[in-house]
Amino acid sequence: MKETYDQDLGCIRLTKRKHSKRISVRYDPEGRLKVSLPYRVSYKAGLHYVLSNKKLIREKIVDLQNEQYRHDLSHFHTRWHQVEVKYEKCETTSHQIQDGKVVVRVPEGSHQQDQEVQKAIRHALEEVLRKEARHYLPRRLNEMAEQFNLSYNNLHIKKAQSLWGSCSSINNINLNIHLMRLPDHLIDYVLAHELCHTLHKNHSQLFWRQLQQLLDQDVRKLRDELNQYSPKLY
Ligand SMILES: [Zn+2]
Repeated sequence: MKETYDQDLGCIRLTKRKHSKRISVRYDPEGRLKVSLPYRVSYKAGLHYVLSNKKLIREKIVDLQNEQYRHDLSHFHTRWHQVEVKYEKCETTSHQIQDGKVVVRVPEGSHQQDQEVQKAIRHALEEVLRKEARHYLPRRLNEMAEQFNLSYNNLHIKKAQSLWGSCSSINNINLNIHLMRLPDHLIDYVLAHELCHTLHKNHSQLFWRQLQQLLDQDVRKLRDELNQYSPKLY
């Protein structure tokens, strides 16, 4: 197995498969691009293939998301909730969040792959993530601000397509509900990153040095690790 990182495609994981006859490419639930190669194809050639078909692969992201993760979503769990899909005698889809469960009810006879069902599951998941984010992020941000002796203006928690977080010119911090899908140390990295922007409004060397100092960890490693995830792909 070989792993590499590309600015446009994110984390790329190449593996050789005994029985595969052609190169296949898909995204796994963590947002890593998984490339399966036949044995006779070298890693170098496989990577070359992927990088020269970047545009095609990126265009396919949405399709892949729709086609290949349809099943995975039914076993999806968030930090504190487990998804359960129930097929019942009902006209429309609905969901309920209770006791660590997200129960998504869909009409009998419909299928996991149906767009309607997929939409219902994602909709329910987003509500759960928002709930968890509102519970967790403000407290954690305050803790860290206190620890770093920094202050911010307002915190907004919302769903965003590409950014994990941002900090405005007047130090309002925005955090993405999808942060809740990340491990603790990466959430902390994003929170520290935005808090650090209250001091530096750019990504200058000063900014990175300051962030390094605040976190007292290998910031580059954390940044690379974060790049393996995407707010969009799950
Ligand atoms: Zn930044």
